[in-house]
Amino acid sequence: SKLILRGLNGDFRSGQLTAILGPVTGATGTIATNGEPRDLRQFRKLSRYIMQQDLLQPYITVEEIIQLLRLGKARNTTAERLSGGEKKRLSVALELLNNPPVVFLDEPTTGLDDVASSTCVSLLKRVARGGRTVVCSLHTPSARLFAEFDHVYVVADGRCAYQGTSAGVVPFLNELQLPCPRTYNPADFILEVSSGEYGVHADRMVAAVENGRNQRWRDFAVESAFEEMEIEQLNAGGVEKHNYKHGSTACQQFLVLLKRMLLQTARNKMGYDASKTIFNFGFCYACVIAMLYIPMMPVLLAYEVQLVKREYFNRWYGLKPYYAALVVSRTPATIFFSLIYLVITYPLTSQPMEGPRIAMFTTICIMVALISESMGTAEHLVIAESIEKMIESWQTSRKRQEPFLVLGEGSNVLFLEDFAGTVMINQLKGIAITEDEDYWYLHVGSGENWQDLVCHTLEHGIAGLENLALIPGLVGSAPIQNIGAYGVELKNVCSYVNMLNLITGSIERIPALQCGFGYRESIFKHQFRLGYIIVSVGLHLAKQWSPNLVYGDLAKLDMKTVNPRLVFDTVCAMRRSKLPDPHKMGNAGSFFKNPVVEAIKCAELIAKYSTMPHYPQQNGQMKLAAGWLIDHCGLKGYRIGGAEVHHQQALVLVNVDKATSQDIVFLARHVRNTVAERFGLWLEPENSVFLGPALSVPLMLLAVYGIGSGDDPLPIVWRLARACSFLRYGIEGLVAAIYGAPREDLICPDDVDYCEYKNVDLFLEFMSGIRFDFDFRIVIIQILVSKYRLDQFPY
Ligand SMILES: Cc1cc2nc3c(=O)[nH]c(=O)nc-3n(C[C@H](O)[C@H](O)[C@H](O)COP(=O)(O)OP(=O)(O)OC[C@H]3O[C@@H](n4cnc5c(N)ncnc54)[C@H](O)[C@@H]3O)c2cc1C
Repeated sequence: SKLILRGLNGDFRSGQLTAILGPVTGATGTIATNGEPRDLRQFRKLSRYIMQQDLLQPYITVEEIIQLLRLGKARNTTAERLSGGEKKRLSVALELLNNPPVVFLDEPTTGLDDVASSTCVSLLKRVARGGRTVVCSLHTPSARLFAEFDHVYVVADGRCAYQGTSAGVVPFLNELQLPCPRTYNPADFILEVSSGEYGVHADRMVAAVENGRNQRWRDFAVESAFEEMEIEQLNAGGVEKHNYKHGSTACQQFLVLLKRMLLQTARNKMGYDASKTIFNFGFCYACVIAMLYIPMMPVLLAYEVQLVKREYFNRWYGLKPYYAALVVSRTPATIFFSLIYLVITYPLTSQPMEGPRIAMFTTICIMVALISESMGTAEHLVIAESIEKMIESWQTSRKRQEPFLVLGEGSNVLFLEDFAGTVMINQLKGIAITEDEDYWYLHVGSGENWQDLVCHTLEHGIAGLENLALIPGLVGSAPIQNIGAYGVELKNVCSYVNMLNLITGSIERIPALQCGFGYRESIFKHQFRLGYIIVSVGLHLAKQWSPNLVYGDLAKLDMKTVNPRLVFDTVCAMRRSKLPDPHKMGNAGSFFKNPVVEAIKCAELIAKYSTMPHYPQQNGQMKLAAGWLIDHCGLKGYRIGGAEVHHQQALVLVNVDKATSQDIVFLARHVRNTVAERFGLWLEPENSVFLGPALSVPLMLLAVYGIGSGDDPLPIVWRLARACSFLRYGIEGLVAAIYGAPREDLICPDDVDYCEYKNVDLFLEFMSGIRFDFDFRIVIIQILVSKYRLDQFPY
């Protein structure tokens, strides 16, 4: 933070035109009025701020503005063609409609010539004489303009270095033995002196005006006529009539704004104006993006992957007929919705109404949509019941250079978009049990369901897994995050993990001690993340059962009478009462890991929050309860879209109403940020995998990479990479459709730079540095469509 105003004082009177001179850097902070915090809403109603840049509606004539606003004057110039001075006066006039008592102007004369500046300042003076307070910030006004101001306020180093009339500046400086040279502009001189160009005089200046409290120069050489006029105007009560409310009803405002917007839409002939080519290019890009996303909608909404997973697995149908039906059913809808989009947007943006151009534009859009669709859903779904099938599908996906994902039950994966690659569902089954005097030894296929395994062991009189009951997922996923619950972790019972090395095709055994098991951690999240699949897991369960009854309701059980079945039932009952069932209400269990912090940090937090649960770790660190932290931020029940922090268990994010993956991500981010702000701790998600957009977003970015770099061509590698994006062909094709053949109707004002893009080849060259013939582009698109369509029939 930086102090920008240092105890300065000053008053800006109504009826006077004030200039503020001197550098004041932008900053945020609080402002007090009479020592009380300013009521910003009230202040905004009282004041108007006119910016340095004139933001006027470009397609509305002055006449229309004046008529709409009932000023009764007539003008026929569109606002975009007004001169600088006219625009400034129009801005001021528009703001004055509501008769505000205070008007702020940021450098009103910047960019105006001498005549326009003095007209503008005399208008402002007239406005001020009506009893308003008009305050302008100025940089370097000319001497003549400077003399027009009634009141000058100079700021130096955050303090008031002068406050008084413009005529008082020179005598003031004389008194401080700082004579202004006769031919010098007093405004420049006082700024230079106060900014230290002639030595350090700012302190003396501030002291002389008592940092703005001294009013001595306020009345120096004031025009007597002005004083009379000021009083007369003030008494006339013009300003007292100012409105704190809008002068018109909401309905009137709506009608006026509607008319204005319709007029603007009708007059914005973007497609007919060569000077707007660059905006029209934006329209083409928007079309390509819309085409990219239109076909994805049904996929995103239909939970397609889960459906196919279940139905195909239950042998209802084969994948070939499924994809054939999918493509045939989707294509008409894709074409229909693409056409609806084009029927609205094409004429709305005034694109040329010529048959061949429309046909070309439409064809390209539909092609982009069809290709995009084939890039959406998981392209290949493999259900692997054998190791050979796993190796085969991995090799096929490598050949296609596609991403490859192994999925158990998918309970720990959040799909952010469809996965454009091979998804392999692990179905390696089998449980083999051996024993010796002390232990049961289990060798379990990684495709076995974890809960089934727990039940299976209990049915065979084998104890040791009961605390881990009801954890969703497969056995093969369990070592990845070292699943744990109620005081037991997989690492307590795991002997080894068998991995399939996809590159060599061999099976490697990793002994438990080398698995790097930690709290929701293992080497399978790091070193063995890619190129390996867990195919089986070895467990050892002691015949001498020693129950773990530390947590929750387990602590209430009697050590003498307890048995594994009772522990299992108690754990299941606790989980059912606390955790929402993912089959009824979608969730990924605990979303965040419990944070482990240094003991000092924990002590700091306990000093503030004495009831905060904390658990000492072996290495001296402390584990905190993420659920308690979230709950303490009042986030239980907090909702974004369809995603909510569970109202009972704050650690769980639930899908209460068709939550999108974005909802979950935004909610998780909000929870993380809120906890970080309150406790200074950064929660980490437990879910290990977030699958981002696989292809469409990179392709989209690639498509526009390097636009506008025509003067400075990109390296050839980038240009070639970009040329691979089918979206690139889409955009270029659309530009070629609109501008390709010469057009008589294209308006091209002489003074506008972008008119060179009337020549489409130049434009495309400017965008990319590579020029393709349109025919070639169409051929490429055709090939791509065929390729992606055919690739959907791999079996
Ligand atoms: C309601 C609910 C409650 C939960 N409670 C707990 C709990 O109490 N304790 C706990 O520890 N966890 C809990 N979880 C998390 C989850 O159950 C575990 O992480 C489980 O191991 C995930 O199994 P999955 O088969 O669904 O894995 P998936 O989500 O399918 O996969 C998870 C990750 O492992 C990879 N993967 C899967 N199989 C293999 C394989 N064979 N080889 C290589 N990589 C593979 C995937 O690519 C992915 O990266 C809970 C989840 C839910 C939804």
